[in-house]
Amino acid sequence: MEKQKQRGEFDLIKELFVPLSKNSQGAFGLEDDACVILPDPGFELVVTSDAIVSGVHFRSDDPPDTIGRKLLRVNLSDLSAMGATPLGYILAIVLSPEHRGDWLDSFASGLAQDQRTFALTLLGGDTVSTTGPSTFVVTAFGQARRGSVICRSGAKVGDKVYVSGALGEGALGLMVLRGELPNLSDCDTKSLVNSYRIPKPRLALGKRLTHLASSAIDISDGLLADLGHLAKCSGVGVDIQESLIPMSKEVQGLVSQIPSLAQLILSGGDDYELAFTAPPRNQEAIEAAARDVGVPVSCIGTIVKTAGVRCLSRDGVNISPDRTGFTHF
Ligand SMILES: [Mg+2]
Repeated sequence: MEKQKQRGEFDLIKELFVPLSKNSQGAFGLEDDACVILPDPGFELVVTSDAIVSGVHFRSDDPPDTIGRKLLRVNLSDLSAMGATPLGYILAIVLSPEHRGDWLDSFASGLAQDQRTFALTLLGGDTVSTTGPSTFVVTAFGQARRGSVICRSGAKVGDKVYVSGALGEGALGLMVLRGELPNLSDCDTKSLVNSYRIPKPRLALGKRLTHLASSAIDISDGLLADLGHLAKCSGVGVDIQESLIPMSKEVQGLVSQIPSLAQLILSGGDDYELAFTAPPRNQEAIEAAARDVGVPVSCIGTIVKTAGVRCLSRDGVNISPDRTGFTHF
């Protein structure tokens, strides 16, 4: 974290961020101009970056520790989609006055908690101030065996399409926070909000898929939108069956009460589950890998020649909504 940009910056780094770097020699206690990362022999670096902006990606009333955790987890989710194992991360902080003090302490405690959960270390970064909204940028580094990363471009006609976990909880959690789902039980409310604030990156599953999946992506923008990215990169199309999309009991219950929520499961985003494809011969190995890592996996469709993504009802009617997912611009 180079050069003092404002009074107190060095104290802040020493108190909050140097402790987060102490498990890595290559971080040099955050005292040098850059860090050094050495992947294991036979491995290559896999790098991703995600930014979050106050008022856009998090709400002023979100607990700050969960913001820190989500910031790390969305980056780890991208690493998981490539089949990589996390090593460390760099954090750039552009801070507005409202987020100094206790807020930042709690944010850093969330980072510390998830560093322990996912075995990675802070390696460096920068801290500056702004009069605009606070912005946090993480660049995460992972490693994967040379030549083993899973790309979006590998899907082939005839491959099966899978998703991990269950969909819709993150998007419904955001609706709860916006007050758009009143009358839920406290238990449902808590669980949905938790899914939105603290997604679960599927690192163990992603790693196991390196030899099994032909392509993969993490579902951040929405199932249909992200399958669309994957299909476009692979030069193929996707047909999925609505009835095969995995939902938790509580989400299923909500959709049967309010049928218009069904389109949110397809295009709501914030799932951070993996969507991936694999040749049919790998089905048993994929099911075994899913059992080993304790993450359910559902086959929801097939890769086809015709470009685009179609979600089909039980009678084969295309029910894809017009809006397939989140876009920033
Ligand atoms: Mg992604």
